[in-house]
Amino acid sequence: MVSCAQCGYAANLEKAVSHPQAPAAPDPKGDFAPQAFHTPGIKTIGQLTEFTGHPASTFIKSLVLVADGQPVLALVRGDHQLSETKFQQAAGARESRPARPEEIVGWFGAEAGSLGPVGVSGMRILADEALRGRSNMITGANKDGEHLRDVTPQEDFQAEYRDLRQGEAGDACVRCSAPLALARPSRSGTFSSSATATRTRWGCAF
Ligand SMILES: [Zn+2]
Repeated sequence: MVSCAQCGYAANLEKAVSHPQAPAAPDPKGDFAPQAFHTPGIKTIGQLTEFTGHPASTFIKSLVLVADGQPVLALVRGDHQLSETKFQQAAGARESRPARPEEIVGWFGAEAGSLGPVGVSGMRILADEALRGRSNMITGANKDGEHLRDVTPQEDFQAEYRDLRQGEAGDACVRCSAPLALARPSRSGTFSSSATATRTRWGCAF
C-alpha cells in the first residue's frame, strides 16, 4: 500500500493513482533523430545506467505482454514499475500475461534486454503518462546489444498514453500533493512488497 499522512488517501500499489517524481535529470534539448549505440551484453536498466552514466528515469522500459492473445508493448519510465492490473484495464483485456522469451524474439527479432518502440508496427503500444512530454530518451533498438538515444515519444513512435505505473513512495498525492509513503501493516507478518515481486517476475526484461 501507499498512503498519504496528510489527507488519509491510501491504495494498493497496483491501483494507486499518484503523480510521479520528476525525472532525475532533464532531457537534452534539441530536435534529434534516434541514434543507435552499442550496448554489448547489457540487459537491465541497472546495467544501462552504469554503462551510460544516465539515471534510470532517462530510459524507456519496454515490456511485452499478451492481452487476450494479442501482443502489446507497454512502456514505462526506466525507474518505474508496470502495474499489470492497470495494464490489463488499459488494454481492455479479459486476461493478460508477460510474453515468453521465444515469443519476444519472434515478434521483435531481439531479446527482452534490447526492446523499444521505434519501428514497431502491427502491435498496440501503450505508454505510461509519465512519458508524456519527454524527449531524447534512451530505449532498446530491437537488436541485441544495441540501444537508441534521442528517442522522443509521439515523434519517433506513436503510443496511446495510459496510467500504467505502480504507485511508489515519494509520489505526490493526487488529492493534496503531499508525498506518499509506503504503508506497512501493523501486525500481519505477511506483507510483501509488490515492487519486489514484480521485479522478480520480470527478471531482466525491459
Ligand atoms: Zn493526500
